[in-house]
Amino acid sequence: MSTLAINGGDAVRTKPFPTWPIWDQREVDQVIEVVRSGQWGGIPGSKCREFASAFAQLQNATYGIAVMNGTAALQVALRAVGVGAGDEVIVPALTWIATAQAALYIGAVAVFCDVEPDTFNLDVAQLESLITSRTKAIVPVHYGGMPANLDAVIAVARKHRLAVIEDCAHAHGATWHDRGVGSWGDLGAFSFQQSKVITSGEGGCILTNDRHLAELSASLINCGRIQKDDETLVEHPFAYNFRMTDLQAALLLAQLTRLEELTTRRAASADLLDAELSRIDGLSPLRRLSGVTRQAYYQYHFRYDPEQFDGLSREDFCKAMNAEGIPCGTLRSQVVYKNPLFGANPVRGASAVIPGPNGLIDYSEVHCPVAEDIAERSGVVIPQYVLLGSAEDVADIVRAARKIRDHVREVVTAG
Ligand SMILES: *Cc1c(COP(=O)(O)O)cnc(C)c1O
Repeated sequence: MSTLAINGGDAVRTKPFPTWPIWDQREVDQVIEVVRSGQWGGIPGSKCREFASAFAQLQNATYGIAVMNGTAALQVALRAVGVGAGDEVIVPALTWIATAQAALYIGAVAVFCDVEPDTFNLDVAQLESLITSRTKAIVPVHYGGMPANLDAVIAVARKHRLAVIEDCAHAHGATWHDRGVGSWGDLGAFSFQQSKVITSGEGGCILTNDRHLAELSASLINCGRIQKDDETLVEHPFAYNFRMTDLQAALLLAQLTRLEELTTRRAASADLLDAELSRIDGLSPLRRLSGVTRQAYYQYHFRYDPEQFDGLSREDFCKAMNAEGIPCGTLRSQVVYKNPLFGANPVRGASAVIPGPNGLIDYSEVHCPVAEDIAERSGVVIPQYVLLGSAEDVADIVRAARKIRDHVREVVTAG
């Protein structure tokens, strides 16, 4: 165990971690039932309705609308609260690009807010400085499954009459003050894409407690149809077909029956990691705000301090962990405005995509130093399926990190 695997020694672990997705006869039975029924889709189908209302209930929201994916859910939620061309939408700088793209698709402008170094979530202290007369909405992301500071976001939004759309793509099962995420903002948007904490391959859901927003969202995903029992819609909106199929909803009904167990297992592993990794100099688990009554774990995040590892870069630390048999990686692609889509375009001289009301926005001027530090230097991520193993599996992660810490000079020399 003394020679690092990256230098040819034995790896801490050669066994694989649990694979994802997890399924059994429940998923098979649900899908077969839909296949046999011949009703594979609908406007919307009965399985879609059943799933959306079950999921809404689980997250403590009044209404649920099943959608084809999480990006569509975000886009529809933004449209439902009236965001349109030229409006500004505040999003965290550190997130999957879809959070920002949802605004761009409808002609709105993404304005990036830096994140907190110890939660990786939107830095609420900076929100007000980003608000202009064109700002219409704030989109907090519960990054990695850690609920963002909803009390603070909602207070700022109320004061400035802005909408709040929660991006809950990482946070199924998470609660803030004991109430499900997605039920706090005007609307919440979830994703069930293959990598998420429950999945139907692709899929999404919109949650809200507001009847009008629910009816409008249901219409916006359904070619503008007004349902028989809609009471608040007076005209048909211009809309898309963003519906989910009943095959996806069937898979999700089965996945829902295991969400509680999966959330508990991931949280137990994460609690162990918090306790053990914090005892290794140079590794820091994230801080949990007091409002977080339950954290979901799409990803387990921690901070790595290269200085305390004799200057070993975060990239080389991750490579050494991988060699020891531990899946972990960086958040390098997650600073959204650094994506080439937003970058200064060498041909056109400004952002390739964003025509703001005052001309093109130059995102090369945007700097969110904390998000950049997390992405480029200090953030480490362990994917959710790794947390589905046993306490012994978690011990291997800690063993590998400690081994690298103890032998850090060998990596530095070898590198
Ligand atoms: C996955 C994801 C989305 C989009 O979901 P899709 O279903 O892939 O469209 C949105 N926001 C975040 C933060 C995500 O991780």
